[in-house]
Order: sequence, then C-alpha cells, then structure tokens
Amino acid sequence: MTSCIFCQIIERAVPSAKIYEDEHVYAFMDIMPTTEGHVLLIPKKHIENIYDFSEEDAANFFKAAPKIANALKAEFRPAGLNLLQNNGAPAGQSVFHYHMHFIPRYDETDGFQLSTWETKHTTYTPEKIQELADKIRSVLA
Ligand code: 5GP
Ligand code: ZN
Repeated sequence: MTSCIFCQIIERAVPSAKIYEDEHVYAFMDIMPTTEGHVLLIPKKHIENIYDFSEEDAANFFKAAPKIANALKAEFRPAGLNLLQNNGAPAGQSVFHYHMHFIPRYDETDGFQLSTWETKHTTYTPEKIQELADKIRSVLA
C-alpha cells in the first residue's frame, strides 16, 4: 500500500469528508481547518509538487478550482477566499502530494493570517526588479 496519506484518501483506505471528485481530482475537508469551510483539492495522480505537473495534468487540475471556489462562495458567503499551496518543506509543505488549500475568509479575526508576508521594497528597487524579470524571462524563452 502507498505510504502517501492523500493517495490513501483517494483509495478510500483512509476516510475523508469528500466534497467533490471527477476523473482527475478529489476535494475534501482539511482535517485541521484554519477557517470555516477549509478545503483541499488534490490531483488523483500522485504528483509531489508544482514542478512535476505536465501541462495536461495542470489543465485537468485547475479546471476544477473555480468549481470548488464557487461552491464555497455559495455556501459560506465569505468576504474573501485565499488559495494557497506550498512546495517543499521550507515553504511549509507537510504532505508531499500536491494540494491546493481553499481558505474562505470572513474578517480579520477569522484566524488565518499571512503575517510573515513582509515586503522588501527598499532592497528591491525598480531597477533590481527589472533585472530579476530579465533573468526569469531568459529562462522562459
Ligand atoms: P501543507 O502544510 O502540506 O500545505 O498542508 C497539509 C494539509 O493537509 C494540512 O492543512 C493538514 O491539516 C491536512 N492533512 C494532513 N493529513 C490529513 C488527513 O489525513 N486528512 C485530511 N482531511 N487532511 C489532512
Ligand atoms: Zn499521493
């Protein structure tokens, strides 16, 4: 049996509160929700992180995202919605099967904070930002 907890959830070897599935994706409630309605969307294929997606896998995964978002909007009427996904342990990934968090937001006391999102606009001048853009563009070309 696979050691991946999310593969086990897809195989029904581990229970979950499923909200949606199709041929390519499975969506279920996070067992440790940060706000009301916190959902995880995962590909059925074991894909570890964003780097491992083919274009086809990505299309199949992301086409389900608005469906989940709109269901949460209809049910909870949140003031906002954060989509979050972590790649690699230093980025906060703890389950190494790709997943996207859907975190409905209600108000500033709803318990979810991106409190470490510190900006460094004095280090990253417009010239430096342009230099970084040029480097990234050269890899994409
Ligand atoms: P990460 O830190 O990798 O971005 O998020 C992993 C998420 O998976 C966490 O929010 C955690 O609560 C959730 N999680 C881990 N194990 C299980 C499980 O067995 N069932 C469910 N429903 N969620 C899980
Ligand atoms: Zn897996």
